[in-house]
Amino acid sequence: MMDTKKFFALLLGILVALAAVSCQTDEDELPVDDEVIQQGGGDSEFGNSLVATYNVSGTQISLTQAGPASSGFYNTARQQEFWSFFTGLIPSDMWPQITKLTLYADDEDGTAAYVAPINENDLSKWEMGWNLAYVWDSNQELVKGETAFTAIHEFAHVLTLNAGQVNVSASACSSFHTGEGCSNNNSYINAFFQQFWTDIYDENKAITNDDGYLAFYQKYKNRFVSEYAATNPGEDIAETFAVFVVNNLPSGNSVADQKLNSLSEQEALVNMRQRIRENIDFNINLNAIGEARSSRAGLKTKHSHF
Ligand SMILES: [Zn+2]
Repeated sequence: MMDTKKFFALLLGILVALAAVSCQTDEDELPVDDEVIQQGGGDSEFGNSLVATYNVSGTQISLTQAGPASSGFYNTARQQEFWSFFTGLIPSDMWPQITKLTLYADDEDGTAAYVAPINENDLSKWEMGWNLAYVWDSNQELVKGETAFTAIHEFAHVLTLNAGQVNVSASACSSFHTGEGCSNNNSYINAFFQQFWTDIYDENKAITNDDGYLAFYQKYKNRFVSEYAATNPGEDIAETFAVFVVNNLPSGNSVADQKLNSLSEQEALVNMRQRIRENIDFNINLNAIGEARSSRAGLKTKHSHF
């Protein structure tokens, strides 16, 4: 009896996978491991993979929902282990906008983490979501290097897209439009965009599929700190900031190096870099992180938020 059920479950899985892949070819644009999403998704979208949701106030979290996946490996102790790692890495006064935490576990979802405004009309409050399937390895050890890189990347989104940087209610926009709203003239992301993106942005926006993103990256490789950075200006500044924090400053003069150096000219960012680096007492291997992310890119079929 179980065998028959398993067979049909497997068959259904294959059919769903085939449908998802063909859908991805047509519509899914980004070979991504994380995304900035437009709206906070309802909890139900995670189904059985939901671990828990929390309200966040600084380092304090309070449970708002325990999901089906909280009873096994991703129990309360591991949820707390993850949260202690995150808050121990990036000081909480640097992300007052994060007011909700969503934890889920789905190793078939290539997305490692995301951030999203809780309400699209208010960029002062953000939800942060984490796929815990990529936080622990097969030896049940927390993967510190990649989790730290992802954490700094997500933090960089909140830093560059929050209400102090981006205006959701501007009627016209002559600076960079982030998707959430119009960036302030003196915002981090607008400065970055004006210096590094104006000549290639139209070409980037015209890309419609994964092959196009790969070709764009390869064409302008010396401009980007990673393949994923070439996705769009928002991902570029998040990737650049994460590399800026974890690496030594560059000695070369490629455009990617110029981007890193442009961040090092801003005192507030240098201070944040220093404060995060004081908490890094483990190795971060960017090559290994890149390989792990690439291996997952093709898995992304569900939870596509734009
Ligand atoms: Zn991102």
